[in-house]
Amino acid sequence: MNLALWLSRTAAVHGARLAIAHGDRPVCTYQEFAAAAARGARWLGDQGIGPGARVALFMTNHPDYILLLWSVWWAGAVAVPVNAKLHGREAAYIVSHSESALAFCDAEHAAAFAEHAQPGCRVVTRFDFLSDPALAPAPIAERSEDDAAWLFYTSGTTGKPKGVTLTARNLRWSTMAYFATVQPVAPGDSMLHAAPLSHGSGLYHLPYVLNGGVNVVPASGGFEPPEIAALVARWRNASMFAAPTMVKRLVEWARNPGAGEAVAEAAGEAGYVPDWSGLATIVYGGGPMYLADIELALEVIGPHFAQIYGQGESPMTITVLPRDVINDAGHPRRRERLASVGFAQPMLEVSIRSPDGAELAAGEPGEVCVRGEVVMQGYWRQPEATAETIRGGWLYTGDIGALDADGFLTLLDRSKDMIVSGGTNIYPREVEEALLMHPAVAEASVIGAPDAEWGESVVAYVVARAPVDPAELDAHCLAHIARFKRPRHYRFVDALPKNNYGKVLKTELRELEARGGRGG
Ligand code: AMP
Repeated sequence: MNLALWLSRTAAVHGARLAIAHGDRPVCTYQEFAAAAARGARWLGDQGIGPGARVALFMTNHPDYILLLWSVWWAGAVAVPVNAKLHGREAAYIVSHSESALAFCDAEHAAAFAEHAQPGCRVVTRFDFLSDPALAPAPIAERSEDDAAWLFYTSGTTGKPKGVTLTARNLRWSTMAYFATVQPVAPGDSMLHAAPLSHGSGLYHLPYVLNGGVNVVPASGGFEPPEIAALVARWRNASMFAAPTMVKRLVEWARNPGAGEAVAEAAGEAGYVPDWSGLATIVYGGGPMYLADIELALEVIGPHFAQIYGQGESPMTITVLPRDVINDAGHPRRRERLASVGFAQPMLEVSIRSPDGAELAAGEPGEVCVRGEVVMQGYWRQPEATAETIRGGWLYTGDIGALDADGFLTLLDRSKDMIVSGGTNIYPREVEEALLMHPAVAEASVIGAPDAEWGESVVAYVVARAPVDPAELDAHCLAHIARFKRPRHYRFVDALPKNNYGKVLKTELRELEARGGRGG
């Protein structure tokens, strides 16, 4: 099944409904959207791009992004969305690794890419063909369930990014998971794309196309809290996908919306208080959300949150912590549940396994493994990496976690971030959770440093909100976690190193530590 069938059906059923908006401005209806994709497919066909060919997209979030993506699918080609924040050199690697024949770029990215562009890949920056009446709409190309539809390059926090091959089947099940566990979508409901369309947000535009919702691309092309507040007021039942760092920024702004000039522009008046009542759901995931942060977010923004845990290899879909569970304030284990990533989504199995592949009992930490329809076909042209990751039918996620008796999964860490001190495993996340409960700690990241006596010792990198003494943090940790888990050293820094997705780069912290750390 070609995914473009979803678009042509929605155009038939809800043709006159608004499909895409740019900020507060309507861009096109579903009829116009499908016509643009059919013309785009004709144009691609004229360039010799047909079923199975790869086409890269390297551009900032924009309505054209969505039109081009569906043109690619309509033509039966494979989309290779490249994160817009990558360096031109990194983008060129992805384009050459995927052997993309063509790359759609906006002007800014074409320039970044130009120096590093690969021979054999044509860069296209003008998309007039989408509205060229002289182009006859192409028919939807025939594709099977197991044909690649999207090459999703991993963030590559270690080594080169790998091309996760997602088929139409994978994307279909990821979309069904949204309806089944995040929320249903009615025609006219909206999804704000403040996170990259090349990743999570792009996957989350699919349920909205299928059910006739409005995909809204912020005019800024990114994430600006005052703009989000204005869009929530403008569009019906607005939802968005947000990494935990984005939620944190939104909450910090919402607590003090009077600060900054952008507010006056967004709200048009002083003393403005954002109104979140029209907000449907902020779906957070993609990195750890600390208990202290989600509790504050619920207090400041309200009962509008759901969490998902997934990875490119099982796109947006492994476990879910639905809104109803998050908002079940009277539940005796609510705080444990809030600190977890929820329970398995319906179309897959989650199993915790030891390094030798044996299934572990509830409560025992091990590697999170997943089996089901949404799991990737493999890494693009990397059979060895695929065989290392999918073993005996199970996807080994590289995440360490434990299930509780009710099936809630608590993620402890990436296996490579675990600290072994005095022969005991210490999960940095638990220490970070404890540190973040201290009012002076804005951000914390915990790593293991080589230690002659203990093997490794715990070191905390802290971004402080206010001056704080290490002795005070030590006493605070002693009150919250086991003595042996508390940090031996504190390093105060202005900011934590993060990658383009907002994930803390522990590899860089370990390198920094090896050079002697910094500060206290
Ligand atoms: P990516 O493939 O770039 O989306 O990264 C996926 C990784 O992000 C997962 O393997 C986890 O380590 C982490 N991750 C994703 N969702 C969550 C979540 N809800 N809580 C904690 N970590 C998460």
